[in-house]
Parts: sequence; C-alpha cells; structure tokens
Amino acid sequence: MTAKSLFLCGFSEFQKTLADLEMPAFRAKQVRDWIFRKFVFSFDEMTNLSLPDREKLKKAFPKILPPVEKYLQDRDGTSKVVVKLGDGELIEAVAIPDEDSLTFCLSTQVGCAVGCVFCRTGEMGFKRNLSSDEIVLQVMLLVKRTGKKPTNIVFMGMGEPFFNRAALFEAIDVLTDPQGLGLATRRITISTSGVIEGIAELMDRPGEVNLAVSLHAADNATRTSLVPLNKRYPVAKLREAIAAYGERTSRRVTLEVVLLKNFNDQVQDAMNLVSFCEGLLVHVNIVRFNHFPGSPYDPSNEKDEKEFRKILKKAGVAVTVRKSRGQEILAACGQLAGKSDDQEKK
Ligand code: SF4
Repeated sequence: MTAKSLFLCGFSEFQKTLADLEMPAFRAKQVRDWIFRKFVFSFDEMTNLSLPDREKLKKAFPKILPPVEKYLQDRDGTSKVVVKLGDGELIEAVAIPDEDSLTFCLSTQVGCAVGCVFCRTGEMGFKRNLSSDEIVLQVMLLVKRTGKKPTNIVFMGMGEPFFNRAALFEAIDVLTDPQGLGLATRRITISTSGVIEGIAELMDRPGEVNLAVSLHAADNATRTSLVPLNKRYPVAKLREAIAAYGERTSRRVTLEVVLLKNFNDQVQDAMNLVSFCEGLLVHVNIVRFNHFPGSPYDPSNEKDEKEFRKILKKAGVAVTVRKSRGQEILAACGQLAGKSDDQEKK
C-alpha cells in the first residue's frame, strides 16, 4: 500500500490495511477524521494516535500529499496551486472563494488535445490523462491551502474531462464518499467541449452531477473554428445529446459561451444560439474572454455583449454572465497552462 491509495481506498479497504499493520479497528476512523474533517495531513499532528502507530503509518504512507511547486494568490482572493506530479509534469487547480461559496476548479489531463483557440491549455497540446488519485489530490491540496471543504467542484481546469472518463468518475465517487469528504453530487459540475459519449455516460450514472457544455457558437462553421472537436461532434449531434440528457435527468444544462470580439458576438450569432436553445432545458452562461500572453483574440466589447444578451433574453433564454476571477495569476477560465513562474516568464 502506498500513499497513492490513501484517498482512493474506501473505508473498509483502509480498515483492512490498518489491520494488516496490526492497528486497532478504530484507528481507521481516527485517521480519516483527521484528514477529511480536520484537514490535517501529517501523521505527527494526529495527536490521538499512539507514537508507534504514527510511525507505522508514516512508513506505509510516506507522503500523504505530493509536493507543491507553487501557490499563487490573486488580490481578489482566488488562489492557484501548481502541483508537480510523479513524472515531473505540472498541473494547476484553482480555489475561488465568494461570499457564501468556495469553488474548486480541477484539471483532468496534462494539457488538452481539443485545442480551443481561446484557451491557453489547448496551446500546450495533450500530454497525458491524470489518474483519479491525481484529481483527488488537487482537492486535498486546496483544502489544505484554504483550510475549508469546497462548496462546489467544477471540472473546468486543464483538459477535456470526458476524454478521461474512468478516472473522472472514480474521482467523483471518492469525493462524494460519505466516509471521506462527502461532497454532494449536485455541487459538482463537469464542463465538456462536447464529447457526446461522455454526456451519454453521465446521464446513466446515479447522482446529480451537473453538466456544462462549452458551446461558444451554434453554427458549425464558427464553432469548428473555435472548438476543432466540433468536426467530430457537430452542432446538431451535440444538440441531440443535450436534449436526451435533459429528458432523462430533468437537469438544466449550462451552455458556456466565450464571446470574442467580431468572431461569435454578432446579432446573427445570438440568433443562431436562440434557435439552438429552443425546446432545450438549458441556461446560457456568457464567459468573458480572459486574455493570456500571445493570444490574438480580444474580448467582446460591452455594447456587443449587451446586445447579444438582449437578444437571448427577449427570446426567453435564461442568461447570466460569469464573473471572471484570478486573472492576475492566470487562474481564470482558459488561462491554465501547467507552468511554474519561471516558465511563465519565458
Ligand atoms: S477549453 Fe477546455 S477543452 Fe478547450 S482546449 Fe481548453 S482545456 Fe481543452
């Protein structure tokens, strides 16, 4: 048994491991209370454990959490953790506090193969999938950093979550395990660039995990130029998958739309979106484009954005604008790139 499996093994498996180490049965609950309720990640600080048992645990689980390359803090309260994985790859996860919420934004891959033109992660290309353990570890590192359990989890960090479904769903099972952090499934959102198989698998799973789809444009030509994956999952097919999901789950799907100046923010684009939404259980979330070094795109101007929203509202489409957070530390949507500070400067 290694540190890797400490978060992944369920309670009974953990009990068995401790029994193999000749520890009393109640130790399992004590250790998990320290980790998941008191957010203590050092066996030395688990003061109700005997010294010999602490030593045994240290040997069995040499590192509860992996080393952190960097913590960055934005003036708006957003913090970003850059984690160095076992093979030296870097990933990023973000904690976004608000008045009465704390949202953790998690990565599911190192890099991303989808290559959305407005996304810094897409520029990196795909390196590899994260394991379920590496996904859960991001949460625990942010819990350690903030001293709090998140109210919401969003899979909107690096990578396309539905291209790593096995690890994604296992991580969700771990995070929602009542014997662990016990997060509510309805507080978890998976954001996809439109992977239809993933939408189908999600709607067949138990629980109430939310779905967000990065739509950005409702016509094939514009969408393909923004999200190249649209060639594989064109707009009509994606719409069918969203309709099926809504019918099966009765849950409202969020359609994310990043508005880029003179690209997808004109009247015709809004009207195409209205037609797409007709008859669907959806809500449109307009996301302000977050500029990153080297990007040729600009955010939509205020007048065009307002007009865009007006057209949607007039047609009865529910629409909100997402607040952008963490821009100073490149932690905002589309800005994550798995780089340490030194690399950022290059
Ligand atoms: S927006 Fe998401 S799916 Fe698109 S390239 Fe970036 S990480 Fe990948």
